[in-house]
Amino acid sequence: MNHPTPEQPADVVARLRATFRSGRTKPVEWRTAQLGRLREMLTSHGDDLAAALHADLGKSSTEAFRTEINFVVREIDHTLDHLDEWLRPESAPVPAHLGGDATAWTQYDPLGVVLVIAPWNYPAQLLLAPLLGALAAGNAVVAKPSELAPATSTVLARLLRQYLDTDAVAVVEGGIPETTALLAERFDHIFYTGNGTVGRIVMTAAARHLTPVALELGGKSPAFVDRDADLSVVAGRLARGKFSNAGQTCVAPDYVLTDPETARALEPALLKAVETLYGSDPASSAEYGRIVNERHFDRLSGLLDSGRVVVGGDRDRATKYIAPTVLADVAPEAPVMREEIFGPILPIVTVPGLDEAIAFINDRDKPLALYVFSESDTTRQRIADETSSGGLGFGLPLAHLTVSDLPFGGVGESGMGNYHGRYSIETFSHRKAVLAKPLR
Ligand code: NAD
Repeated sequence: MNHPTPEQPADVVARLRATFRSGRTKPVEWRTAQLGRLREMLTSHGDDLAAALHADLGKSSTEAFRTEINFVVREIDHTLDHLDEWLRPESAPVPAHLGGDATAWTQYDPLGVVLVIAPWNYPAQLLLAPLLGALAAGNAVVAKPSELAPATSTVLARLLRQYLDTDAVAVVEGGIPETTALLAERFDHIFYTGNGTVGRIVMTAAARHLTPVALELGGKSPAFVDRDADLSVVAGRLARGKFSNAGQTCVAPDYVLTDPETARALEPALLKAVETLYGSDPASSAEYGRIVNERHFDRLSGLLDSGRVVVGGDRDRATKYIAPTVLADVAPEAPVMREEIFGPILPIVTVPGLDEAIAFINDRDKPLALYVFSESDTTRQRIADETSSGGLGFGLPLAHLTVSDLPFGGVGESGMGNYHGRYSIETFSHRKAVLAKPLR
């Protein structure tokens, strides 16, 4: 049997560009039809995707639907509800020197052909959420799923080709060679989610064509716990935020920052919280995930002796299991504090008080998220005003990214650009300035 030669990146981009030039992707009807098809794909094949996510990450079906499939469905619904309003031209006041009969406004133009590169940790959500935003803005899209979540990549490629307009949406599977080849092409926007090292490669490649980028990166997101906080509530929310997806979440609380007394009181509260979530043996809990591959398992194993083990600490390479682990008495320069953990290890670092906590945060890279557990308005306001982070969560980790009307993105080392809801339209469009002056 003859296998067709796989389409080369240059041909894929040329094909999509021809579609874009034809004007096919511009009408709002085309955009909403594509979003509707994507929704149908997710509601009809949610179980296929959930099975793939389980194969790749041991993700439970509940978590797969909550954090990936239904997450994207909600984002589609929100976009369909508001797209007309978001795309409406906005008028601008005209200065007197142009005369009273001139008018001015902005209109959103799609950019053209967009490349979306996704990572493995939420491999469906992080491919589909940018994809739907780019389509809603009227672009053609090349979608590149992560090769480190191969089952999900296969299912997504099959379904997207089946459900979406293949003249305007292409899926390119593969790893570094395939991505490198894609990056040699000229795109009108590149939306990359992943780590900062590759973020730099993407930005360098984009610079050659003067292509704008959004880089959704990671980093160490701190959780500051104030001495006035209700520690059983804090521990429950911290544990859920940290250990979902076995800690492989870009906005997971990376480490706890608190005073020594609160740290001691938090230890038993965290032990209890982990038991409540996963029972006394998390390895046998259907709700607890696994580490994506051996390389990450070995990297994380090397971090387990960075402090005194208060919760968990056990692991099994054969099943890529690392228990939900809490480490106390962790030194600021310990290995676990040197890089983003991206796994189920929660170190507790102590500082004397709020001033030192703020200085600790500001001495390091700007985080993707910062969490604060405090009853004090003054403390909350001081942290809001005196630190910089992609997002800020008071009292609840992770949840800010589920608010479609908030921009999601990083700052500094945690990235640039943002998306979700109307912010996706901003990211994937050019806001064109228009001035009109009557001829008579
Ligand atoms: P990954 O290894 O899957 O890489 C992401 C993508 O980059 C993949 O599609 C991969 O094919 C491509 N890639 C890898 N190496 C490349 C190279 N040399 N040249 C070109 N392309 C290449 O995922 P990852 O980077 O391990 O993801 C984890 C990181 O992503 C963490 O730092 C995490 O915090 C961050 N992250 C950020 C967000 C966010 O929304 N800000 C979300 C999830 C993950």
